[in-house]
Amino acid sequence: PVAPRREQVEAVVKEAYEKFRNDTNGKNADYIPYLAKVDSKLFGIAIVTTDNQVLTMGDVKYAFSIQSISKVYSLALAMEELGPDKVFEKIGSEPTGRPFNSPVAVVDMPTHSGNPFVNAGAIATVSLISGSTADEKWNKILNFYSKAAGEKLVLIDEVYKSEAATNTGNKALSYLLAKYDRIYADPFESVDVYTKQCSVGVNATQLARMGATLANNGVNPATGERVIKAEDIPHILSTMMVAGLYDGSGTWAWNVGLPAKSGVGGGIVAIAPGKGAIAVFAPPLDEAGNSVKAQEVIRYVAERLNYNIFSPT
Ligand code: GLN
Repeated sequence: PVAPRREQVEAVVKEAYEKFRNDTNGKNADYIPYLAKVDSKLFGIAIVTTDNQVLTMGDVKYAFSIQSISKVYSLALAMEELGPDKVFEKIGSEPTGRPFNSPVAVVDMPTHSGNPFVNAGAIATVSLISGSTADEKWNKILNFYSKAAGEKLVLIDEVYKSEAATNTGNKALSYLLAKYDRIYADPFESVDVYTKQCSVGVNATQLARMGATLANNGVNPATGERVIKAEDIPHILSTMMVAGLYDGSGTWAWNVGLPAKSGVGGGIVAIAPGKGAIAVFAPPLDEAGNSVKAQEVIRYVAERLNYNIFSPT
C-alpha cells in the first residue's frame, strides 16, 4: 500500500534497464587492482519495499564488493553502541566537497574527520566500534551487515587482499587522524578492519534489502528483525543526503532528492523513506567514483515514481 503498484514499478525498472544498459560511459575503479578486472557490462537492479516486495532485473546474483556502502552500516553499528550524540561529537557530519580519499577531510575540516562516509571519517568510525581484538570487531561488523541484509554475508577474500596490498593512502589517513586525536583505536588495525568491511560481498538484491531496512525505520522487512534503532535513522539518512556520493552529493541531491550511498565496486543504494530502497550495480564509475549507470537508473526510476523527498506533491 505504501509503495506504488507493483506493475507500475516493474514497468519503470524495465524501461530504465533497457534505456541505460548500453551506456558505455565511465570506467571501473582501478586503484584496487581486483576492481579493474570485474566485467564492466554487469548490470543489475533490485528494489525491496518496506512491505517486502522484491523486484529484480539483470545481474542481481553477482556478488560485488560493497566498498563504501559499508560505511553506512558501520556508522549505524557505532550509533547502536555509543548513541548518536557521541558519534556526532567524535566524527561529525560535514560534507567535504572533496574526493572520498582526500586528506583535506582531516587537515582542513573543523571536525578533522569530515563525515562518516569519506575514508578518513569511516576509518575513525570503525575505530569507535568496541571489541578486544580486531577479529572481534570484524565479526561484529559482518554480523551486523548480515542482519541488515537478512542473509549471511561473506568477505570476498581476493578483494580484501588486493586492497590490503595497495591501501597506503588509507594508512596515511589513519595516522593523520591520530595527529588530531580523531582516531579511537590503533590506526593500522582500524584500517585493516575497514578494508575488510569494504570487501564484503553483496548482490544487488541483498543491497536493496540492506537499504529497505533503513527505509523501514531500522526493521529488516524480510526477517522482521530490528537492526537499527528508529531514532538513529534520520541521522543516517541525512548524512547520506549530504555526503553519500562524496563530491557528487550536491548534484545528486539536486537531481534525485534521495539519500543514497555509493561504493567504488559499482553499487549505489538509494532510500525512499517509508517506501523502500533501490540498489543498482554497474561497475563503470564517473570522476567522483560513483557508478554511472546506477545514478542514471535511480534518477530515472525515482523521477517516474515520484520518490524525491523534497517534492511537495
Ligand atoms: N575501500 C575503498 C577505499 O578505501 C572504498 C572507497 C569507495 O568505495 N569510495 O578506497
